[in-house]
Amino acid sequence: MTGLSSRLLRWYDDNGRKDLPWREDNEPYRIWVSEIMLQQTQVATVIPYYKRFIARFPTVHALAAAPLDEVLHLWTGLGYYARGRNVHKTARILVEDYQGAFPRDIERLCALPGIGRTTAGAILAFAHGQRHAILDGNVKRVLARYHRLHGWPGRSAVARRLWALAERHTPHARIADYTQAVMDLGATVCRRAAPRCDVCPLRRTCAARLHGDPLAFPTPAPRRDKPEKAVCVVMIRDAGRILLERRPAAGVWGGLWGFPECAPEADVAAFIKGRYRMEVAPEPHWDPIRHSFTHFHLRITPVPARLITNGGGIMEAGDLVWYNLLYPDERGLAAPVKSLLKNLSKTYGSHCSMYQARP
Ligand code: SF4
Repeated sequence: MTGLSSRLLRWYDDNGRKDLPWREDNEPYRIWVSEIMLQQTQVATVIPYYKRFIARFPTVHALAAAPLDEVLHLWTGLGYYARGRNVHKTARILVEDYQGAFPRDIERLCALPGIGRTTAGAILAFAHGQRHAILDGNVKRVLARYHRLHGWPGRSAVARRLWALAERHTPHARIADYTQAVMDLGATVCRRAAPRCDVCPLRRTCAARLHGDPLAFPTPAPRRDKPEKAVCVVMIRDAGRILLERRPAAGVWGGLWGFPECAPEADVAAFIKGRYRMEVAPEPHWDPIRHSFTHFHLRITPVPARLITNGGGIMEAGDLVWYNLLYPDERGLAAPVKSLLKNLSKTYGSHCSMYQARP
């Protein structure tokens, strides 16, 4: 055991978070769901999503049997929807190929969709006490500061060095506690913007603290200005219902439901007629929304449009649906779509109650 791990374990005994809902029984299914949700998302945000998810899908069999839409509906608001799609895909593989059990070796776990080395290591450490190093964002930060390791962790040489350090500090005993402790220290003490070195159990030997420059580590990614993209979304309404289309599985918001989309300079009525064989009357656009992704910003201009005729064209197909503003069903929606539907519901939802029956 290194000095870092023994001090971390002592600190964990008094300060660690031992009441996390996914640590109640160390069941691999629950740990896996929580670890996937915790990728890119903080504990406090994850807890309510996790509880709703487990209440609806208490077992891997329940998850595998559910339609993808229901899974994405419960993921709405958490972001990074590929995680939701992968969770569903992996549940089906586990049921079909492993009788619903999780493999106990790291190579097989890493072969499942959405499970990387850190997630697999955490599942095996928490569920079975197996010794595996982990290297999530919190752990990278603690190790980069503790060792004052220069270089952006996105570079493979730096990542390799961090993995070697993570491996070296991982103890041979109390592996689950250590795994939780190092994650907790990164989340609650060695925080990204405001490290609390004064209460840190590693403060006496932490190189960055001794040099007085913890905020310089980890080295940030080389700065690249994100490009700005623009799109126009057409919110076609017909008697209090709005046309939604399922997005392709690959790409932004893959598999979620959204509005028909065209280029900002397109003639909206002509685009809708050409693609959906519908006549619509576009109305003045709403204020644009700006949404930021990891690699670009998206400027979304919402255009409301009234349906004039359906032209005998598409009424409702597998990937098209008339979404009822008064009685919304459960389906996966990206955050901007959800908020636009809420505004549409405020504007048009009450109009339709006189002539629209509950479906
Ligand atoms: S002493 Fe400060 S910089 Fe070093 S690990 Fe602790 S909180 Fe992080």
